[in-house]
Amino acid sequence: MRPLYFDYASTTPVDGPVAEKMMAYLTRDGEFGNPASRSHILGWMAEEAVEDARNEVADLIQADSREIVWTSGATEANNLAIKGVAESYAPAECHLITSATEHKAVLDPCNYLHAKGYPLSILKPDADGVISVQAVAAAITEHTRLVSIMAVNNETGVCNPIAEIGALCAAQGIFFHVDAAQAIGKMPLDVDSAQISLLSMSAHKFYGPKGIGALYVRRRSPLDLVAQIHGGGHERGMRSGTLPTHQIVGIGAAAKILNAGFAEEAERISRLRDRLLNALVELGDVTINGGAAPRVPGHLNVCFHGVDGEALMLAVRNLALSTGSACTSASIEPSFVLKAMGLSDQAAHSSLRLSLGRFSTEADVDSAILSLTEAVNSLRTSASRNKRHQS
Ligand SMILES: *Cc1c(COP(=O)(O)O)cnc(C)c1O
Repeated sequence: MRPLYFDYASTTPVDGPVAEKMMAYLTRDGEFGNPASRSHILGWMAEEAVEDARNEVADLIQADSREIVWTSGATEANNLAIKGVAESYAPAECHLITSATEHKAVLDPCNYLHAKGYPLSILKPDADGVISVQAVAAAITEHTRLVSIMAVNNETGVCNPIAEIGALCAAQGIFFHVDAAQAIGKMPLDVDSAQISLLSMSAHKFYGPKGIGALYVRRRSPLDLVAQIHGGGHERGMRSGTLPTHQIVGIGAAAKILNAGFAEEAERISRLRDRLLNALVELGDVTINGGAAPRVPGHLNVCFHGVDGEALMLAVRNLALSTGSACTSASIEPSFVLKAMGLSDQAAHSSLRLSLGRFSTEADVDSAILSLTEAVNSLRTSASRNKRHQS
């Protein structure tokens, strides 16, 4: 039996109408042309589809379509943003600031640059996982060129004060990059009012296909992004490679659905999340990681004290969920995000992430409540029985 899906933060299914639209750009009877082909109608049709999608994606963040660069996803967008800015300076002249709760797709490029001589500050979050504007301000030096802070954390759903950090960076002439992979479709985003220079997104986090994303690159800015992939000069030289029309049509269609409004969806998901949260808190000896901070609707990161997260996950095989994040769950290390928030190894190991989305139902939530209640109670009972045996 397929498990009930509670892992929307790691990826989402492609929405039906999105997949259907993509199908029309693949086969011989469809618009399979190369968008760069200028000499015939198949190329023009593909190019038109790509530009329609670019408009939809720009509208998601109140940007201009000329500010959207297609990438293979948020990992590539983050790499292009961070290395692209850094490599336009000599290492010693380019201090980078990021945070300990970023996705590896931000931390790894930053650490890579640091090994090449770029000074790097990695900010600690507060106990709820928030990076304060004061922490950013305190880290700025005369050589700071780039601040990279995520909009929403993938493990906890906690929101950072992006607009305040943007204002601080703008006032000091520092470029501001935002990894918004977890924010798109969950909160309003406006690159102008938040004074963002660069923003990364990924279609598979908002009901589009995997393998396509975008980097927003502010126009009329001193940004001089160094390309990371060289070739045919596509995307104004910033990212070469034949554009994958069907993938781009997919991200465009997913964006269009969100542009029609997602407030109601967010409200519904928020109610489901709170139904789940309230029932789990009833179990007692439970804390919500990041619970006191502003959070997006679908995320719930719960610490079941005295219960091993791995054992709990195995006990609820009818649920697809995640310990920490999927990207770190290949190893059995405690989540570095939860650790940075000050959780002990034990508390981090006792935490699970449940994330809800567009296709979550009340029935799913009620099944999850039942399974988790049973599993937590039984694991706690056997744990206390074992303790009694030992003493
Ligand atoms: C999923 C995710 C990424 C990686 O995106 P891909 O498109 O899968 O490369 C980066 N950052 C955050 C915050 C994410 O949630």
